[in-house]
Amino acid sequence: MNLFEYEAKELFLKHGIPVPKGFICKTPLEVEMAYQDLQGDAVLKVQVLLGGRGKAGGIKFPSSLDEARILAEKLFSTPFKGIQISQILVEERLNISHEFYLSITPGTSRGCPLLVFSPKGGIEIEELAATSPDLIKKVYIDPRYGLFGHAFRFTLGEANVPRSLHDQLIQLAQKLYRLYWDLDAELAEINPLVLTSDGRLIAADAKLRIDDSALFRHPELPRRTPKTVEERAKSLGLSYVTLDGDIGILSNGAGLTMATMDQIELAGGKPANFLDCGQRIIENGVWDGLNLILENPRVRVILINVFGGGVRCDIIAEKIVQAVERLEQDSKLSVDVIVCLQGRNMEEGKYILSKCMTKRLRQASTVEEAVKLAVDSANYSNLR
Ligand code: GDP
Ligand code: MN
Repeated sequence: MNLFEYEAKELFLKHGIPVPKGFICKTPLEVEMAYQDLQGDAVLKVQVLLGGRGKAGGIKFPSSLDEARILAEKLFSTPFKGIQISQILVEERLNISHEFYLSITPGTSRGCPLLVFSPKGGIEIEELAATSPDLIKKVYIDPRYGLFGHAFRFTLGEANVPRSLHDQLIQLAQKLYRLYWDLDAELAEINPLVLTSDGRLIAADAKLRIDDSALFRHPELPRRTPKTVEERAKSLGLSYVTLDGDIGILSNGAGLTMATMDQIELAGGKPANFLDCGQRIIENGVWDGLNLILENPRVRVILINVFGGGVRCDIIAEKIVQAVERLEQDSKLSVDVIVCLQGRNMEEGKYILSKCMTKRLRQASTVEEAVKLAVDSANYSNLR
């Protein structure tokens, strides 16, 4: 989960990392008030989960109250890179004497966190990597001990950073590492880390991404309401991806789901989605999954392909029967559901399916047969 700049900066502040004084604003009037609070020396920054706002016109330096209001009205009413702006961060304008880059990520090669520092901040790190890779310095951090001051001091020396800044930069990097560690972050980035003309080091920008799998450990962090069908599926414990075909798939296990998609393609059909219910198949997975699939108006038929390995087919069969009967009662079942159950207790499972009251539910005894039924049904619907 990515945090907004203002959310990340609040957390920075809690961890002792200096950030500019600022106010988060939801209306042009609030922007005006914040601008006045800052004595007219302020920057307006649109809050989007994207980088490169500076270049794209999302960072403004108004020189009067009138201009601040006009800019705010414009920023709130025009989509920024296709995204509606609902919040603007109004911040004290910094007098920049130098811009550094500092980040911590899990790294990729050595299985331990990686600090990246550059004496040349303010531009995207990817761009810097392409133009001046020698200005990107790396320090691997042993998680048993944290960031050693001397290790980073050596790097600062290599990067020709003035000695007078070393202590301040080391303390700041150690605080950033603490924050990264404590919050289970996947990215903690300050770009630019600004040296002001009066000698202060301040995080002018802040990027924080938290490991989704660790969010349950952080009730203190903000939550995003899931918006896309993929996000909602994830919040239900399901792994779902929309595709452009017309055969809905519900399966258990990523491998089986992908194999089912391949089988459909081979038989001349097109999957409408990837949906792996995983272990949720014996809980609410079938019900939630079928509802997600049926949201897609392109779906002409649903193929449920389940292998009972750790889970029992009879339990899954009951879940399927309950779900389709309820969907039919609610007049929500507009397509056929083809089921192929194999594995543990499959005979009991098949018996339970055969007792289903819903005519739309059809059983196949092999995957090939199920796929053929699904592809035929989709093609037949398309002819009508
Ligand atoms: P990003 O483009 O989305 O990464 O947004 P940043 O917050 O990093 O801002 C982009 C650039 O705007 C920075 O690199 C600075 O050069 C400039 N900038 C941001 N805040 C200030 C400020 O308070 N004073 C000045 N002079 N420049 C700023
Ligand atoms: Mn930035």
